[in-house]
Amino acid sequence: MLPERNLSLWADSVNRTRSETLNKNLDIDVAIIGGGFSGLWSAFHLISGDPTLKIALFEAHHIGFGASGRNGGWLSADYPVSRNTLIKRIGEEGTDSIFTALKSSIDEVGNFARDFAPTASFTKGGSISFARNSAQAIRLRNSVDEDHHWLSNSELTEKILIADSICGVHTKSSAVVNPMELLLGLAKYLTKKGVAIYENSAATIAETGRLLVGSYFVTAPRIINAVEAFRSAPREQIPLYSLMVATEPLTSQFWSEVGNFERATFAEGSHLINYAQRTSDNRLAIGGRGARYPFASKRSTNIENSAKTHEALRALAKSWFPQLSKVRFTHAWGGAIAITRDWEPYLRWDKNRGYGELGGYAGDGMTMSYLAGKAMAAEILDNTSSIRALRFVNRRSRNWEFEPLRFAAINSLIKLTDLSDAEERLTRKPSLINRIIEPLILR
Ligand SMILES: Cc1cc2nc3c(=O)[nH]c(=O)nc-3n(C[C@H](O)[C@H](O)[C@H](O)COP(=O)(O)OP(=O)(O)OC[C@H]3O[C@@H](n4cnc5c(N)ncnc54)[C@H](O)[C@@H]3O)c2cc1C
Repeated sequence: MLPERNLSLWADSVNRTRSETLNKNLDIDVAIIGGGFSGLWSAFHLISGDPTLKIALFEAHHIGFGASGRNGGWLSADYPVSRNTLIKRIGEEGTDSIFTALKSSIDEVGNFARDFAPTASFTKGGSISFARNSAQAIRLRNSVDEDHHWLSNSELTEKILIADSICGVHTKSSAVVNPMELLLGLAKYLTKKGVAIYENSAATIAETGRLLVGSYFVTAPRIINAVEAFRSAPREQIPLYSLMVATEPLTSQFWSEVGNFERATFAEGSHLINYAQRTSDNRLAIGGRGARYPFASKRSTNIENSAKTHEALRALAKSWFPQLSKVRFTHAWGGAIAITRDWEPYLRWDKNRGYGELGGYAGDGMTMSYLAGKAMAAEILDNTSSIRALRFVNRRSRNWEFEPLRFAAINSLIKLTDLSDAEERLTRKPSLINRIIEPLILR
């Protein structure tokens, strides 16, 4: 059993002293549980809307212990379900409102990062999806719209040189950051604005309006539960693991061959999700899914650090860039993401109980948590923002199936997704396996 630690490249490269641990009873206006982006952006929007509020945030370990301090650093305008699926569910108008709000959120995060977290190296270099076989190319072709532009092979290789790539799609609506530096800039900003941040301070809800933190009571008429994948609600959301590896800083010769001078985020258009970035110190950081789902949604540090998945990621990186064969991979880590049954996020505020929760971002939480935090503040402050009408506000997805069906079905889908990529690599035709599993994945 591995110890519970944030082993990410991002956590490894920051040096900071922790905030204090709660050592007294508190009486405040808003208590926030969880020191990731959901908790911190909720505090940010609340204090921006009402600077007189007394807000305290409680983090069980340290700021960025969870997915926020471990992720791929993509700030994308992606919603966990595709645009076409969302149009089928809520129509064009509601769908457009969500994607417009996501796009503005990236720019708002960028403005914040430039002023208050310059070391996060926010760069709006767009994002590239590339195809390495014709089945992937067909899928990418179907994703072209006013925001996603087709790249011929020569246009793609002008942007980034990937072995065996044949074409791609580019969007300008995406940015890249060092997530840990952004979190720490945000925490510093909030502290200056009077938000109290407590680390090593695990909180439990004792009763309506009251938290127990260690042996101290916190009385707050409003409580926000921002622990996302740490929230135990196995029928409402499941934890799946996303894993990452990173190389040592790569030479200027490597990057002059490969390109990507704009630091676009990039991914192969396979069924199994993968994602990569060129870090601000010129490493390659690459992540992906494929680790198994834990029985009964129990969080597992072993799965989070699956050697097999880490090795598959290193192999994927080397297949894109054969020049990496002799390069050292210095970091390997993972974390849980929360997925609802219909793959849509949620933000719920119950005014009568003074209780709210947000999450279910399914691996697209960097921009979504900013937007969800903004919507949470709008709900609590009861302002007239149109954001409160967005699809994910105050909604609940249907429940996941009972165990052991859930365990068997999800792990079979993960295996079949991997197999469908292998089938496409072999046949170069759209996978038959995927035709069967796609409707079951519900994205
Ligand atoms: C490997 C990986 C790569 C990813 N890549 C991307 C990406 O590139 N782009 C993207 O958009 N999204 C990505 N995601 C998803 C994204 O990171 C998450 O959706 C987002 O960070 C969730 O933020 P959060 O604040 O809701 O949760 P978290 O960051 O998990 O924060 C929850 C916090 O609550 C704390 N906590 C738990 N219980 C308690 C308690 N009782 N008391 C106090 N504190 C408690 C935890 O310690 C944790 O710090 C990735 C996720 C992973 C794991």
